Amino acid sequence: MPEDRVIAIPSPSLVLMVGPSGSGKSTLCARHFQPTQIVSSDACRALLADDPKDQRVTPAAFNLAHAILDERLRQRRLTVLDATNLEATARREALRIAVRHHLPAVAIVLDLPPAACLRHDAGRPGRRVGRAVIARHAAALRATLPRLAREGFHGVHHVRGAAEAAALRVRTVPLPCDRASERGPFDVIGDVHGCERELVLLLQGLGYGRRSARGPFRHPEGRKAVFIGDLVDRGPGVVQAACLAMDMVEEGAALCVPGNHDDDLARTLEGGGPDPGPGTEMSLRQINAAPAALRSAFRRRFVAFVDSLPSHLLLDGERLAVAHAGLREEYVGRESADVRRFAMRGETTGRLDRFGLPVRVNWAAAYDGSPFVVYGHTPVRRPESIRNTLNIDTGCVYGGALTGLRYPERKIVSVPAARVYYQSPRLTPTGVGLRADTRTTLP
Ligand code: GDP
Ligand code: MG
Repeated sequence: MPEDRVIAIPSPSLVLMVGPSGSGKSTLCARHFQPTQIVSSDACRALLADDPKDQRVTPAAFNLAHAILDERLRQRRLTVLDATNLEATARREALRIAVRHHLPAVAIVLDLPPAACLRHDAGRPGRRVGRAVIARHAAALRATLPRLAREGFHGVHHVRGAAEAAALRVRTVPLPCDRASERGPFDVIGDVHGCERELVLLLQGLGYGRRSARGPFRHPEGRKAVFIGDLVDRGPGVVQAACLAMDMVEEGAALCVPGNHDDDLARTLEGGGPDPGPGTEMSLRQINAAPAALRSAFRRRFVAFVDSLPSHLLLDGERLAVAHAGLREEYVGRESADVRRFAMRGETTGRLDRFGLPVRVNWAAAYDGSPFVVYGHTPVRRPESIRNTLNIDTGCVYGGALTGLRYPERKIVSVPAARVYYQSPRLTPTGVGLRADTRTTLP
């Protein structure tokens, strides 16, 4: 008897059952998923022809199945496609629907010997498919197995034999961005950019403290800090600021989303990233000036940290969302390369402004989602509220201030920068804010 095997299924996601007729796909679905989560080709045939076996309506039945997948994934509902899915072309169509909705797809492969499928088939009164069909399905499974891993599935769970299938357990796990069950209260902290001194003052002002000189900051009443990203680059205390935030996240005293500068630095530290910009160069100089042991430990830790972060965070029963650069309504609570890119970098028009820098799209002007989105990325003179969003990047590193937002109180707490640490070509000597003028609402 094999040990119980637990497979983790991200939720929401699209689950594709893959296996010959009689391998036990529908049985497994019924055991592990709710009836409303299962879209079965048999059931769709029955809906269209009053007979689950009527192969004449198979193309129409798959149109119907795909339409249901499409609508359910739009609603962020876990959905299982119970069909043989033995052809790559059939799987591709379903995968495309998952990609369209920025949700992962996983496959559960029921790899049973043809004899076992045939035995199961013989036990199905009135709806046997027979030996020839099962032999064809078994051959198709063998041929398709090696390709499955390269088709873009988030995971392929290969279940070998009836005993393993019977002992299987399924655990659904929320997407990494889904922390809706965390109710806070939170203190959302704007772009730090290596301004460690101001960060410490802000945390202390918000009531955070450390139990020992090097211990992590935490809040005595269990409030959680939420770093909005761009911990690094441009400022004087990059290593210290990043370590402070990483310590807090490790301690469970903070959450964090990645900023474009965090990602750029991580890619550079990993090697093979794009040419480092001037801000990244400043971080590299500071990292290289650290003692050798700390230097390599920091590199590894920071890269792993950035890669572990979800694109954005959904908090407080989905009432609050935090993303570095912004979010679109159709990205909320979803994870894909596109969602991550947008959340970290926002959107540019392809045009350059009068300073020769890319014009950013003012996504907030078009945001119509229900979570209140707190973000940063584009420095503004004062926290800027547009529709149901708030930008709290008040440009500390440019001599502005480091801003925290108490949530749910929605109270702003700011610490002024001790000095100007970095001059942007977009900024006048009087401070931050010009970048906001160079945004456009035109996509
Ligand atoms: P599918 O064609 O892959 O969806 O297979 P089904 O789930 O419909 O299973 C075919 C038949 O085999 C059904 O009558 C099931 O009750 C039966 N069956 C499925 N799994 C098992 C199993 O592990 N053991 C036994 N004895 N029967 C099974
Ligand atoms: Mg079935």
